[in-house]
Amino acid sequence: MNGISGSRGRGAGAPEADVLVVGYGPVGQVLSILLARSGWRVVVVERHPEPYSLPRAVAFDAEAARTLDAIGVTGRIADITEPSQDYVVSDAAGRQLLRIGLGGTDGTGRPDSTSVYQPGLEAALAARGEELPTLRVHRGLRAVELTESGSGAELVAEDERGGERRTFTASWVVGCDGAGSFVRRSLGIGWADSGFALDWLACDVVPDRPEDFPPSNLQIADPARPRVAVSCGPGRRRWEFMRMPGEDRAEFGTEENAWRLLSMFSARPDNATLTRHATYTFRARNAEHWRRGRVLLAGDAAHQMPPFAGQGMCSGFRDAANLAWKLDLVLGGRAGEALLDSYEQERRAHVQHAIDLSVRLGRLICVTDPAAAADRDRAMTARSSGPARPAEPV
Ligand SMILES: Cc1cc2nc3c(=O)[nH]c(=O)nc-3n(C[C@H](O)[C@H](O)[C@H](O)COP(=O)(O)OP(=O)(O)OC[C@H]3O[C@@H](n4cnc5c(N)ncnc54)[C@H](O)[C@@H]3O)c2cc1C
Repeated sequence: MNGISGSRGRGAGAPEADVLVVGYGPVGQVLSILLARSGWRVVVVERHPEPYSLPRAVAFDAEAARTLDAIGVTGRIADITEPSQDYVVSDAAGRQLLRIGLGGTDGTGRPDSTSVYQPGLEAALAARGEELPTLRVHRGLRAVELTESGSGAELVAEDERGGERRTFTASWVVGCDGAGSFVRRSLGIGWADSGFALDWLACDVVPDRPEDFPPSNLQIADPARPRVAVSCGPGRRRWEFMRMPGEDRAEFGTEENAWRLLSMFSARPDNATLTRHATYTFRARNAEHWRRGRVLLAGDAAHQMPPFAGQGMCSGFRDAANLAWKLDLVLGGRAGEALLDSYEQERRAHVQHAIDLSVRLGRLICVTDPAAAADRDRAMTARSSGPARPAEPV
């Protein structure tokens, strides 16, 4: 159901939003679209005046593809996506240690993995959101105060440019506000931390002649410099490099150092453009709770994982898909609030599996001790002579 007429049960004194979404990254976008498509009044506050453009996700799985299809976004991202290659982990000399078959399709014909340019995906989601009359997005507003009352919630947001404050009321609030989530912190919810914390520099590059840099899905487990070479959509490449023990973090993140590292892949200023680069600390954490009363968490606000399995954003899309139909039933009076407890029960354990898989891959790839890497290489080369394994379900 679409249109304001679909916003059911709005009487005098009713909250101005059925659902208030904090954060309009990819997860907040998908959740907002799913809810607004059903006619619910969705209000979003997003602190950035413009969409966030730093390099992050480069691929999504077939389940995420089905979600994007369901909300009418697939056709809009055709130009910025391409099927991913098989996922390969190699040693420093280029010998294959592990191959995971991602080059196929799922039962519905969608690629097992699709390489994507995240800013383009977010732009397509934003354009889809603009078509939905019950979805209002307020950019440049930072959420600063949250009060949950048992029957609803009130959120104060501050204008990033002028500092003036606005108050929003909603029946439900969902924190989709990323790793540093204000919503999670304001609820006093901590992390269950798996103890993974390594810095990586992510560089988005447009080669002058992309054909000279064929798309790959390669993790190079070189103890001298673990690194990654993947496609992020047609004509775009992502190269990532681990910060080695003893390297200065600020110096590591400079453009000059990015080019120095990119030369390992023969990318240079005279044959490629470095469009973005950023240093991230890859972490593995699951929020201790995903719901407090009328406030829920989704996406990176609820969980983070190192990106070695490409599951951070995909997990957030699963959160959105799981939560949207439950909120729809509860808001429509067709299910009690207790249904929302199943959101955390179902998603938290599933996400933990994705976190654990990501950490296992990370611990495999990020070895910096040459002797330990040599042992690993010997053991894995002996095992990896067969064909590609199917992708491990997560
Ligand atoms: C290098 C790298 C590679 C990755 N590769 C992949 C991959 O291939 N596949 C994959 O699935 N995932 C990948 N990920 C993970 C993926 O990028 C994230 O999981 C995803 O972006 C999380 O989306 P989100 O919407 O939950 O959070 P975010 O994208 O962080 O969005 C949160 C939003 O909330 C806003 N916000 C924050 N605080 C406030 C506030 N107080 N008030 C208002 N707004 C606020 C922010 O401005 C932001 O727009 C990768 C991550 C990195 C770093």
